[in-house]
Amino acid sequence: MILDLRKLKRSGKDQSDFFFEYSPETELIEIPSAKLIAPVKVVGSISLTGEHSCYLEGEVVFGIKGECTRCLKDTENYYTAQFAEAVEENNQDGYSLKNDTVDLAIIVDDLITLNAPISFLCDDACKGICVGCGVNLNDSECKCKK
Ligand SMILES: [Zn+2]
Ligand SMILES: [Zn+2]
Repeated sequence: MILDLRKLKRSGKDQSDFFFEYSPETELIEIPSAKLIAPVKVVGSISLTGEHSCYLEGEVVFGIKGECTRCLKDTENYYTAQFAEAVEENNQDGYSLKNDTVDLAIIVDDLITLNAPISFLCDDACKGICVGCGVNLNDSECKCKK
């Protein structure tokens, strides 16, 4: 997902839209029972803001599939994360250009890592499994003797 400022300049435009389907090379999700669904969708635009600087904005839609960490039900959840980044040469506070190119994969990887849930649940209100009788408390009543 390399965006090339020179190409954009050659085309005579100062703004361009992009859409990528992207499969991260490394495991970005640290949930033992779940993993990222590939590919991830990335849509956005690049605008030139100077001879060697640009502004990127857009959003990433990614899915996570696996077992709910509370009740173990098979679950698939989707998340949307927005990005808006000024990219320039030797950028101290953010992403830098390399030879007038920017690798969107680095930005997207960071975004997924930051926006992935800490606990992966089928529902925020998931009641989990009773440790006593083992029933899924979302579907059944606890059978433990009171
Ligand atoms: Zn659950
Ligand atoms: Zn029980």
